[in-house]
Amino acid sequence: MTPPMPPPGPAPAGGHPRPRVAVSSCLLGAPVRYNGGHSRDRFLTGLLAHHVDWVPICPEMEIGLGAPRPTMRLRTDGRIVTKDETADHTRAMTALANDRILDIADVDGYVFKSRSPSCALLNLPRYASGLPGERTDGQPVDRHGRGVFAALVTDAFPHLPAEEDGRLNDPVLREHFVERVFAHARIRELFARDWRPRDLIAFHSRHKLQVLAHDPAAYRELGRIVAGAGTRHPDDVEAGYRRAFDRALAVRPKRGRHTNALLHVLGPLSEHLNAARRHDIVAAIESYRCGEAPLSVPVALLRHHAEGEHLDYLSQQTYLEPFPPDLLLRHHLQ
Ligand code: SF4
Repeated sequence: MTPPMPPPGPAPAGGHPRPRVAVSSCLLGAPVRYNGGHSRDRFLTGLLAHHVDWVPICPEMEIGLGAPRPTMRLRTDGRIVTKDETADHTRAMTALANDRILDIADVDGYVFKSRSPSCALLNLPRYASGLPGERTDGQPVDRHGRGVFAALVTDAFPHLPAEEDGRLNDPVLREHFVERVFAHARIRELFARDWRPRDLIAFHSRHKLQVLAHDPAAYRELGRIVAGAGTRHPDDVEAGYRRAFDRALAVRPKRGRHTNALLHVLGPLSEHLNAARRHDIVAAIESYRCGEAPLSVPVALLRHHAEGEHLDYLSQQTYLEPFPPDLLLRHHLQ
């Protein structure tokens, strides 16, 4: 049994969607770990909880194992077994993944618990399964494993934004994951309604600079898909756009690409600014480029002036506010 879903938080501000995010239940504080404890994550249950609806999943509880329960491990043959090898839960875990696939198809991201033979995304110790040449001292053969449930989910949805709790402590990875989740929620909302090519054009127009910051090649590909939207079957347009959009956002933007996107905002804004204001913005972009200021500094300046000059095409760019600003995700210097 998975614990009941927490009640939704307050409505999002600033016109942001409210993503649905699957999460290993123990990260929300549910006492479902093998030892009856939890692994509550402060960021997930604090700031982020105000802006997303969680879909908690504890695979080991859902296949009927209670808490506390015997510890388990992953073997090199891909099976999940109890440490003493008396029980093999691989078949139950596979059946659960098949049962949950429809729920997971409708989420915008997944946060997995690290180091779990069910939930870990990467670097999980794998233990011998009796193959020739494997060590026999009970130590891990390698650390190249993925949790059985996590592997089934991420193989079924290779473009779903997915991260582990520990990696989200890195401010760059955290920002990138949250940005992808909100972008995924916006595109899900677009295609969930009876959309027309003009809706796709409007969506694409708002996301141009965000996509450019991630992947300039995808920016051009998406432009071609939008240009042909009126003459192709809507299902093909949707599938092609979704695929290219998800792929683009999966590329983590580097400082140089952010600088390029910032200059693309400054370009059309320049003619509306006097020399002093233009100089301030150029200096802020340069400080960011050199690693002396966080991205939030030039973005705030550009947004302020784009709004002040009523330049809707610029001020409505998702690049300038890809997620709720109170998540404070663009304030790091990395
Ligand atoms: S890591 Fe996964 S299986 Fe283990 S307690 Fe957390 S949610 Fe359950």
